[in-house]
Amino acid sequence: MDFPYAERLQQLPPYLFAELDKAKEEAIAKGMDVIDLGVGDPDIPTPPHIVEALKKAAENPVNHRYPSYVGMLSFRQAVAEWYERRFGIKLDPKKEVLTLIGSKEGIAHLPLAFINPGNVSLVPTPAYPVYHIGTLFAGGKSYFMPLLEENNFLPDLDKIPPDVARQAKIMFLNYPNNPTAAVAEEEFFERVIAFAKKYEILVCHDAAYTELYYDGYKPISFLNVPEAKEVGIEIHSLSKTYNMTGWRIGFAVGNEKVIAGLGKIKSNVDSGVFQAVQEAGIVALKTDESIIEANRKVYQERRDLMVEGLREIGIEVNPPRATFYLWTKVPKGYTSASFCALLLKEAGIVVTPGNGFGETGEGYFRIALTVDKERLKEAINRLKKLGF
Ligand SMILES: *Cc1c(COP(=O)(O)O)cnc(C)c1O
Repeated sequence: MDFPYAERLQQLPPYLFAELDKAKEEAIAKGMDVIDLGVGDPDIPTPPHIVEALKKAAENPVNHRYPSYVGMLSFRQAVAEWYERRFGIKLDPKKEVLTLIGSKEGIAHLPLAFINPGNVSLVPTPAYPVYHIGTLFAGGKSYFMPLLEENNFLPDLDKIPPDVARQAKIMFLNYPNNPTAAVAEEEFFERVIAFAKKYEILVCHDAAYTELYYDGYKPISFLNVPEAKEVGIEIHSLSKTYNMTGWRIGFAVGNEKVIAGLGKIKSNVDSGVFQAVQEAGIVALKTDESIIEANRKVYQERRDLMVEGLREIGIEVNPPRATFYLWTKVPKGYTSASFCALLLKEAGIVVTPGNGFGETGEGYFRIALTVDKERLKEAINRLKKLGF
C-alpha cells in the first residue's frame, strides 16, 4: 500500500544540511577526527543540583500521574519570579505564563491557534526553521523578512508591503538571534509594537538566548517595552540558560488571550511536561546567578579565542555580544555550501552553511562555540594550515 504524504509534508523546504550530514558521517566512518562546530547544543552538562532535584522528584509517586496541562502552578510561579528578578516584569502566573515542552514545541503550535488557511506569518530569514514550518503546518504562508548586515540583522518593517501586513496574523522575532548573533534594542521593539498595533499582528518573540551575553551587555526582554504585552508573547527556554536542551522544558509569557489560545491547542495535543522535570525546572530558575555567570565566562573565552584565530587567518568577524554563535562571511570565491564542504573535507571541521537558515544566509557560515578551548585551538590550527 502507498501512503502519500499530506501536502504539508510535501511543502517542507528541502533539508539543506542533508549533504553535509552525509559528508560528516562519511568522514567519521573513515576515521577522521571531526570537530563539530555545527550544532547549537551546549556541551556543558546541566548543573548537578538540578539533576539531583530531578532524581528526588522522580521518586515521588505524585509526579507519576498526568501533569496539569498548563503546567504546575509552582513552576509558573517560579517563572514569574524569575522574570521579575531578571527583567523587572510582573506576570500573573495563572494567566500570563504557560509551560512548554521546550520552546520549539510552543513556537510550532502557536500558528495552529491563530493562523487560518491562507493567512500570513512574517518570518525572519535567515532564521530558526520552526517559525516557517509551524506556519506551513497550520495552512498559512510565510512572508520572509530579510535580516541584512547593513540593518544590523533587524528586519526593515518599512519594506513589508501594506497588503501583506494586512493579511499577517503573526510576526516572529528572535533576539539575541540565531544564527546571526545580533541583538535588538528597545527602539527597535518600539517600532515593532507600533507596526503590530497598526496591522493587528500578534508578535511572538523567541528569547532563548537572553542569558548568554558578554562584555557587560545585557539583553532586554520584549516585554520590557511599553505595551508589548498588548501585542504578544515571549517564548523562553531553560535549554540554553541552564544547559538543559535534552530535558524539554520552556515557557511562554505575556498576553493573556494569546497564552490561553496556545494553551487550548496544547491541551488537545499533549498532556504537559513530566512534573519531575518541572520540579527540577523550579530549582533551575532559582539557581544562583554565579552558575550562569560561569557559563557565560566559558563561552566568552571560546568566543575570544575563535575571533582571534579567525582574524589571524584573515577572516574578519565582530565578537558577538550575545549567543554562542559566530556568523561570518565566507572567504571570496566560495559559496556557503562550497566553503563548508571544503572545511569538512580538508580540515575535518563541521560548520553550518548560512543558506541552510534561508536564502538570505547565503555567503555566510555559522560557528557554534559548543566545544572546549582545546578543540577550538585545534580547529584554528587546521584552518591556518588550509590558508585562505
Ligand atoms: C535553541 C533554540 C531554542 C530552544 O529550543 P528548545 O525547544 O527550548 O530546546 C529556541 N529558539 C532558538 C532560535 C534556538 O536556537
